[in-house]
Amino acid sequence: MGKQGGDSSSLINAEGLRHDGRKIDELRPVSIEVGVLKNADGSALIHFGKNKIMAGVFGPKEVHPKHNALPDRSLLRCRYHMSPFSTDERKNPAPSRREIEISKVVREALEPALMLEDYPRTAIDVYVEILQSDGGSRCASICAASVALADAGINMRDLVVACAAGKVAGQVVLDVDDTEDKEGQADLPIAIMPNSNQVTLLQLDGQLNPEEFNKGFNWALEGCRKVYQLQREALIKRYFGNGEMQEGGQ
Ligand code: ADP
Repeated sequence: MGKQGGDSSSLINAEGLRHDGRKIDELRPVSIEVGVLKNADGSALIHFGKNKIMAGVFGPKEVHPKHNALPDRSLLRCRYHMSPFSTDERKNPAPSRREIEISKVVREALEPALMLEDYPRTAIDVYVEILQSDGGSRCASICAASVALADAGINMRDLVVACAAGKVAGQVVLDVDDTEDKEGQADLPIAIMPNSNQVTLLQLDGQLNPEEFNKGFNWALEGCRKVYQLQREALIKRYFGNGEMQEGGQ
């Protein structure tokens, strides 16, 4: 849905706090758990504010139908799906245009980090289920899917981490929630590979002037760096318990 630039003035109060009490450059609380599904090769559950999102990975596995197989690399397939109870009104479980778009951008955001050339003629399936949504679900999905892929043991160049900035009540804010997304003037989701500093997703819904764009982009980068630490901690917890990694580990 395109931004109409509605009246969002009540969403930032006189003290500069947002409707949920956050500062304008503050992330929502984020937690990540890895290896939560026994039937998937890799999985992760992320809480990103009120978003609750499960990612499950299968593969590398045989491709069906066979003619879709690629001779030189694995075929990455992603499905972003909102459960009927994930929104305030029951969502039709059939895939919407929005879910098809988000499935595509999630795949494109993840693909550069994966060494798909290591698994020719196979498929890797990533299923993202939105159990509860509250704005920024594509970013949270990318964060969960990325650690689920690592949990599945897929060779990766880097993790992928995502976070959005936006514009609410005329001000640039970090990590827009559903209310802010609906009332606000812009939403700027980005995904990066944090070690190689490459951007793998950049979308802009609404309008930002160059100054606002730079500020929002830099805040979103900072947000990504914070979530990246949580991704790493979640993977370390899964594979090394609560203990620290060995000397020389990253
Ligand atoms: P993102 O979740 O990545 O921000 P959008 O900007 O398209 O993606 O959506 C913002 C929010 O709008 C979603 O997180 C969700 O809370 C809400 N939303 C999306 N689709 C629906 C729907 N069909 N019914 C109710 N709310 C929805």
